Amino acid sequence: VDGTAEMIFSGDELLRGDVLNTNQSYLGERLLDLGFLATHALCVTDDLAALTAAVRDSLTRRPAVLVLSGGLGPTEDDLTREAVAAALDVPLDHQDDLLRAIQDRFAGRGFAWSESNRKQALLPRGAAAIPFSGTAPGFTMERDGTLLIALPGVPWELKDMWQKHVEPLVTGRLTGEETARAAGARSGRAVSSPTGWAAVPAAAHEVRRLRAFGIGESMLADMLSDLDWHDPDAILGTRASLDGLTLILRGQATPEGRRKLDVLQERVCATLGDKVYSLTNEDLPVVVGDRLRAAGLTVAVAESCTGGLLAKRLTDIAGSSEYFLGGVVAYDNLVKTGLLGVDETLLQTHGAVSEEVAAAMAEGVCRAIGADCGLSTTGIAGPDGGSEDKPVGLVYVGSVVKGVTRVERLRLWGARDQIRERAACSALDLLRRRLPR
Ligand code: ATP
Repeated sequence: VDGTAEMIFSGDELLRGDVLNTNQSYLGERLLDLGFLATHALCVTDDLAALTAAVRDSLTRRPAVLVLSGGLGPTEDDLTREAVAAALDVPLDHQDDLLRAIQDRFAGRGFAWSESNRKQALLPRGAAAIPFSGTAPGFTMERDGTLLIALPGVPWELKDMWQKHVEPLVTGRLTGEETARAAGARSGRAVSSPTGWAAVPAAAHEVRRLRAFGIGESMLADMLSDLDWHDPDAILGTRASLDGLTLILRGQATPEGRRKLDVLQERVCATLGDKVYSLTNEDLPVVVGDRLRAAGLTVAVAESCTGGLLAKRLTDIAGSSEYFLGGVVAYDNLVKTGLLGVDETLLQTHGAVSEEVAAAMAEGVCRAIGADCGLSTTGIAGPDGGSEDKPVGLVYVGSVVKGVTRVERLRLWGARDQIRERAACSALDLLRRRLPR
């Protein structure tokens, strides 16, 4: 038992490319955060022999965790229960209480009950049901030190059940019983769970995710060129996305391992300064929201090239109505002058895509809506509309914080969507940097 994890995804739709395997990226990340290193992920056709063989094969490697996704529905091609039972050589038992719970769920949602749904109340002998979020129950089972976890394929159901039931089970076991865990790790055996769930072998890794904005992967590599990125005690990895860079720090889950990670983390933070916006993998709008709330400030937005994305990002966060007052999508100049009070001569002299207009839009929306802070975007998202002095990707983001205006000029790249996303994130980050921590 070595803290590894494997994943098996069932479904022809995944193999045919009709559906993107988003469950794999979700589970891969969650498993790593819990300290399990994923070594295998396999998509299997909806065939009992193939799925059974895949489960058997995985179990021979004795991973700490084996997650199965999909195949728990009521139809002919839902074969996960049967495959696990066959691979483990146990019968399927009908669970009366599970059947009642499923029937209640159907009734509660007004779904018509079909006799084929009875199949969903079958569990391999020895399995414990995972309470369902949709209508398909999952289950956990233990075999020779492997915790097998079967979840439905529908992404929201899988995530919801993982977050509510699987992760607490695994983390509760990992953090709650340090002594037993250390003993288990030393002896190389799984430790039984205090919750009565299946045992989970000790995790070997600690993972930290830091988030930064305003820096690319190659610039980071240059800034940290003297660092040993592959030091087995403290590995540094990066992932770039439109809302910035995720820095993934991975080491051993021991006091000494954590100390080494602290050193690496301090080094990264000292190098990146205030480009780092979260030490705990929070999204940029969450950080901005927390800072606004802590400072007791409200915000309003005036958007040209982002067409509402900035307001969308801010309001993605539950509870954002505490600080987000509203916004104006000001595409036409008449909206900029009429609703935001942008001076027409500014538009004529400098053009809509200019530092002056970005400033006037941010100031105007603060005035119009009565907010403490204002944000604005104006730019050329493309693919057309660029010129030599105002090329595609030229974007100004404006900000007002308590009466003081600041504008930044950006040269963004990528297709239209990417330019718009980057513009919205850049505006958010400008506000973040101007708010007290
Ligand atoms: P249900 O009872 O709701 O059918 P299930 O466990 O049987 O649950 P599947 O039938 O395997 O789930 O998948 C249901 C749908 O979920 C698929 O049609 C597909 O759209 C989506 N899905 C399945 N697996 C994945 C995956 N790995 N990544 C993303 N989406 C998936």
